[in-house]
Formats: sequence, C-alpha cells, structure tokens
Amino acid sequence: MASTAVKQQYDVVIVGGAVNGSATAYFLANNPDFTGSVLVIERDWTYAQSATALSSSSIRQQFSNPINIQISRFGAEFVRAFPETMEVNGDKPDLAFRENGYLFLADQRGFEVLERLHGTQVENGADVVMLDPEQLVERFPWVNPDSLAGASFGRTGEGWFDSYGMLNGFRKKARSMGIEYIENEVVEVLRSGDLITGVRLASGERIGCGMLVNTAGTRGPKVARMAGLDIPVEARRRSLFVFDCHTPLPGVVPLTIDPTGVFFRPEGHLYLGGTYPKVDPEVDVNDFDVLHDEFEEEVWPILAERVPAFEAIKVVNSWAGHYDFCVLDHNAIVGPHNEVRNFLFCNGFSGHGLQQAPAIGRGLSELITYGGYRSLDLSALSYERVVENRPFLEDSVI
Ligand SMILES: Cc1cc2nc3c(=O)[nH]c(=O)nc-3n(C[C@H](O)[C@H](O)[C@H](O)COP(=O)(O)OP(=O)(O)OC[C@H]3O[C@@H](n4cnc5c(N)ncnc54)[C@H](O)[C@@H]3O)c2cc1C
Repeated sequence: MASTAVKQQYDVVIVGGAVNGSATAYFLANNPDFTGSVLVIERDWTYAQSATALSSSSIRQQFSNPINIQISRFGAEFVRAFPETMEVNGDKPDLAFRENGYLFLADQRGFEVLERLHGTQVENGADVVMLDPEQLVERFPWVNPDSLAGASFGRTGEGWFDSYGMLNGFRKKARSMGIEYIENEVVEVLRSGDLITGVRLASGERIGCGMLVNTAGTRGPKVARMAGLDIPVEARRRSLFVFDCHTPLPGVVPLTIDPTGVFFRPEGHLYLGGTYPKVDPEVDVNDFDVLHDEFEEEVWPILAERVPAFEAIKVVNSWAGHYDFCVLDHNAIVGPHNEVRNFLFCNGFSGHGLQQAPAIGRGLSELITYGGYRSLDLSALSYERVVENRPFLEDSVI
C-alpha cells in the first residue's frame, strides 16, 4: 500500500530503506551539524526480498584491505553497543551477537596467503591468531585436519547477529528522531543537466530533493539508470541451507570456511551453510529459486569430509538471496557520481554490506553534512575508481 510524503521537497531523499538506507538516515538524524530534511522511500515495508533480511548476517575482521578491517572493527563495536545506542522509549534492540569468530581453514598455498593477511589484520587492530593443525584440532576437535596447513581464527569482533534486528533498530531510531519513511517505489529520477532535482514515485507523486542516496540494493543499478548513470553491479544468487546434525559439535563453533569456499556456522541448535558457487551468473532480481543441487553436489560432500559429524545431517530449511555484486572488484561503491555530484552511490557490497552498514551510514552522513569524511576516510571506495578502472584491492572475498 503506497503512502505519501508530508512535503514535496526534501534536502535528502534515500531510495531504499533497508539496512544501508536506514543506517544513513540514522546517522544523519544523529548528527547535530545536519539540520536538513530526509525522506526514506522504500518499496516494500516487509523487506522480504531485501538482501538484509536474507543475509547470513555475519561480521569478520579478516579482510586484507585496512579500510575494510577498520570498517568492520567499527561495525563490531557498533553491534555490541546497539541496544543502548538504538534505545527508543526504553526498548533496547539486542542483536544477539554471537561473537564466536571466523575460522578460515587453509591448505599450504592458502596458509601462506592467510599469514600475509594476518600481518595486515594485526597491524590494524584485528584480534586474529594463526593456528597450526595441532592447535586447530586442540581448539576445534570436530575438524578433520587432512590436507590443511592451518587456519586463522578471529578471537573477538567476529561472529553473527540479527540482520533484521539491525535494520529495524536503525529504522525505528531514525523515525523516532524525525526521519520520514514512506512505502512507495521510485520509478523515475528527475535530472536537469548534472543535477538531480527529484524523483517520481509509483503513485505518481513527484518529490524534489537536494541530494539522492541510492541504497536500493540489487535494484541499485536500475535506480542509477533512471538518472542515466551506470554502475558495474549485478544481482548474484546465494543459496543458504539450514541443517540439523544428529550429533551437535562440542564447544564453541565459529563461522568456518573450508578452503573450497564451503562454509557453515551454528544457527541456534541447527547449522547454516552454503558455498561460493563455482558458476555464478547474473540473475533476475525476482528469481529467488534455491539451487538445491548446490547443496547435494557442492556443499554437503565437503561438509561431510571436513567435519565427520556432518555425515549425518538433514536440511530443514533453505532460501536464496542476492548479493549486489560489484563486478569491478567485489567491493562497495560509496559516494557521489563524478559528474552528477548530488547522486550518491551506496551499492555493490558483494556480500559484506550488512557488517559495513554502520561505518558506511556514518560516512555518507559526513559526506552529506560536511562534503567530506570526518571519521574514517572511505574515499578509496569512491565512484572515481570505477571511472578510472582502478579496483579496490581486497584478497579476502567470500
Ligand atoms: C545470502 C546472503 C548472505 C549474506 N551474508 C552476509 C554476511 O554474512 N555479512 C554481511 O555483512 N553481508 C552479507 N550479505 C550482504 C548483505 O546482506 C547486503 O550487502 C546488505 O544487506 C545490503 O543492504 P542494503 O540496504 O544496501 O540493500 P538491501 O537489503 O537489498 O535493500 C535494498 C532496499 O531497497 C528497496 N528498493 C529497491 N528499489 C527501490 C525503489 N526503486 N524504490 C524504493 N525502494 C527500493 C528494496 O525494496 C530493499 O528493501 C549477504 C547477502 C546475501 C543475499
């Protein structure tokens, strides 16, 4: 059901009100130097098809690029403090952060890479340790160490949390601080020369804006095209499988990634797993079919070999969601278009956009308020790198 905006003109219009749109809205509302008006336009208030709701909802410090490490360090601090920061009328949204860590398992070649990344991670304050096979099995006795040269393990600041809770917390807090949300779809972006002047909604309404922020997820390229702009972002399917294991694994179980890319983590008393698919074409944004063969052929055989207890498992649930996949370099595009300066991108997160939402929302609010970053410099993620075909280097992509 479409809802209508209170005013006809806003300083900032945010297209897409899931985690990144709502984080940006919150940080704007929370910035005393920002005095403008903000409208968040979201086409579906159930968020059922948003990547945010369909995410595997995990956070790691184990990246190779110092900026991604800093982004996630802030993310982890923010998740821990979320209930207090997002309190509204005594309601403190707890994100049930399970700080169990990420465990990257590696063969000999992979271990050398992990060791190199480890140096950068530690330099940037990430709490990551290297484990040789003996230490690995001592700590995680359920792992079969065959063919492994070791692992890296994030002791703190890594794990998983409630993604929908984060979206809801940001949204509720932003609304309590005066940010307006409407349920409607942007179907046209109005542009005059190099200036965005507003948007037209599915209801026919026209809303003027001083700035537009594109947080439309996998529909981000479509919104950009409405303004005659282009981003190298595609929807890529990721199927997730929830399974029951006859013999639960003992002790703390981190999000564990096999050298093949197959991963799993606990999900309550069950487990959640999937893989980085070998064949990974662009898909239609409305195609949410789960690739069940992927579990049978790619995921389960590896799980059963790596964790003997997983020989006896039963899939009890599954779903598919879409990465907004940046084909240039698997990383987000954040900030203004190089010519149309009042069109801000927040797209292409490629599988780490949930954990990045706090730092990216904060960064965009600074760009909008001050015209530049004040806390963490995110300019390496700018659109200019797309124009210059200069990939943002990140070796640790899942
Ligand atoms: C299976 C899966 C697993 C993942 N695992 C992780 C993980 O472990 N850790 C992590 O950090 N990230 C993970 N991600 C990625 C992360 O979930 C996303 O990067 C993040 O949620 C993107 O948030 P967003 O707000 O940018 O976009 P979305 O959540 O996709 O939201 C975009 C919103 O824009 C709205 N919209 C679109 N077009 C319009 C329009 N024209 N008008 C109005 N509204 C519009 C949509 O309805 C939608 O609600 C995963 C993603 C998937 C799919």
